[in-house]
Amino acid sequence: MPSEVEVLRELAKAYWAGRDIPCPKHPGAKMIGSFVQTTAKDHIFLTCARANETITIPQRPKQLEFQRQQVEGFVENIQRGDANLCYRCQARLEVATNENPNTGVTEFTFTCTRCFSYGTWTGLPELAKIGSAPTSGTKKKSGAVAD
Ligand SMILES: [Zn+2]
Ligand SMILES: [Zn+2]
Repeated sequence: MPSEVEVLRELAKAYWAGRDIPCPKHPGAKMIGSFVQTTAKDHIFLTCARANETITIPQRPKQLEFQRQQVEGFVENIQRGDANLCYRCQARLEVATNENPNTGVTEFTFTCTRCFSYGTWTGLPELAKIGSAPTSGTKKKSGAVAD
């Protein structure tokens, strides 16, 4: 079951991509969307074509896909035990992980709980290192303390 944040993320993605927007509550029904700009709160307003039902998705700032390097930084923060906040609106990020038990390769999906920006990163979490060269032989010895 996707979380509520994931449901809203997918609805916003479909809206901005110009795709059909399936109603999360009525299988087979579509939603009609419009982007509403107000001085207080930009948002996407969705109306179900079948039932008298609407969904409002805050969109200030507007949803974006995070860059891969940013997402790798989020994974690195998790490894260090640090919290992750959205680059765009400073809200908390929801994280979903899907680990392959045989290889340890894990897919991380981050979603902002406020603007529904998102990004995924797949790999071995301990190898998440922004700024390091991916294939060169310059890997530092683990155990060396930087500070
Ligand atoms: Zn509906
Ligand atoms: Zn955000």
